[in-house]
Amino acid sequence: MKRISIFGATGSIGQSTLDLIGRRMDDFQVVVLTGGANIAQLAGDALKFRPELVVTAYPEKLDDLRAALEGSGIECAAGQDALVEAATRPADWIMSAIVGVAGLAPGLKALEQGTTLALANKESLVTAGPLLLDTARKHGATILPVDSEHSAIFQGLVGEEMSAVERIIITASGGAFRDWPIEDLRNATCAQASTHPNWDMGQRITIDSASMFNKALEVIETKEFFGCDPKMIEVLVHPESLIHALVGFNDGALIAHVGAPDMRHAIGYALNWPDRAHLPVERLDLAAIGRMTFRAPDDTRYPALRLAREVMETGGLSGAVLNGAKERALDHFIAGRIRFTDMADLVAGALDQLSRRNTLHLPVTLDNVAQLDHLARKAADQIAMDLVT
Ligand code: NAD
Ligand code: MG
Repeated sequence: MKRISIFGATGSIGQSTLDLIGRRMDDFQVVVLTGGANIAQLAGDALKFRPELVVTAYPEKLDDLRAALEGSGIECAAGQDALVEAATRPADWIMSAIVGVAGLAPGLKALEQGTTLALANKESLVTAGPLLLDTARKHGATILPVDSEHSAIFQGLVGEEMSAVERIIITASGGAFRDWPIEDLRNATCAQASTHPNWDMGQRITIDSASMFNKALEVIETKEFFGCDPKMIEVLVHPESLIHALVGFNDGALIAHVGAPDMRHAIGYALNWPDRAHLPVERLDLAAIGRMTFRAPDDTRYPALRLAREVMETGGLSGAVLNGAKERALDHFIAGRIRFTDMADLVAGALDQLSRRNTLHLPVTLDNVAQLDHLARKAADQIAMDLVT
């Protein structure tokens, strides 16, 4: 039996992970489940999967969680420290699916037990890639990518040498506004940005797809995880979202991962790795699909991609700044305080301010990531305020 913990079990990735585990209950023993404010979901899953420990991120929700699990014998805890503590519980496979930089500390702690970390939390690699990889190396832990593009690249590299790789192409749907005239983007509303043409995801990541900030994070994630030269990484707009990434080799061959836009592909690959096992995902009928289309991304339409290049060049803590400023920019956009096109300006401004203060090249530690995340949010708030007044 594989012992499994899921951090962020109540989210979109967490629920898809539980869906796969629920189909093979005899193969897995759940150790820890964590969630946020949705106690009904968390407690319901706990009663079904019988973990040793359940943690909510919010201390004010602990009483509700305890009440919901009364008599079950399942331990309950709450708060950020409890989340990190929960990552010390021995498990063979740990899913990191908390959203945002909050996923970093539990992920690092999980790696310290030398386990396998299935990493959906891209923010960990964007904000603290070197720290994450060093921690894994030091403790003999394995990190498996769960972002669909990175899982696709990882699968394309099985049995290959990185030295034979010429290029890595990650695809992007282009988001809700891919066909809009550029001059209309500044008037795009939050509701319009919140519908994704292909993937069914949370609101924030859907808006990040429309702005391409999600792809910007993924480009940085690619550089950090695969350790490749940023010049090798290309973004390709592929509206059908059927090819998730391609790896190009020095003999000119391109190996593509093709599959339905369903995160259970990537989660399932990590769950069964290094083997493959049956997954309940759609089998593509390529003849019925008929065609796939591609186009180059336009830097004017997607300034986030330019910012990702800047971050990869600068290195250090600039990824933490991009991520923190992007989170605040998104908050301001969702709250209706700034325009869709202002988001990139907030991030560019925060990067610029903090690089002038020489803070980007402090060592990549958990404390410094938290500090830069905080400063980036403050800088983004200030720029947003200047825009409004
Ligand atoms: P989600 O918002 O649906 O779920 C997030 C989970 O994290 C929930 O369980 C929530 O309770 C928990 N959480 C939120 N804030 C927290 C905090 N401060 N402390 C502790 N726990 C907290 O998010 P998601 O879409 O499942 O994404 C999870 C991660 O996977 C993100 O990093 C995202 O970028 C990445 N990812 C998601 C998808 C997707 O299709 N949804 C695809 C690729 C990568
Ligand atoms: Mg992705």
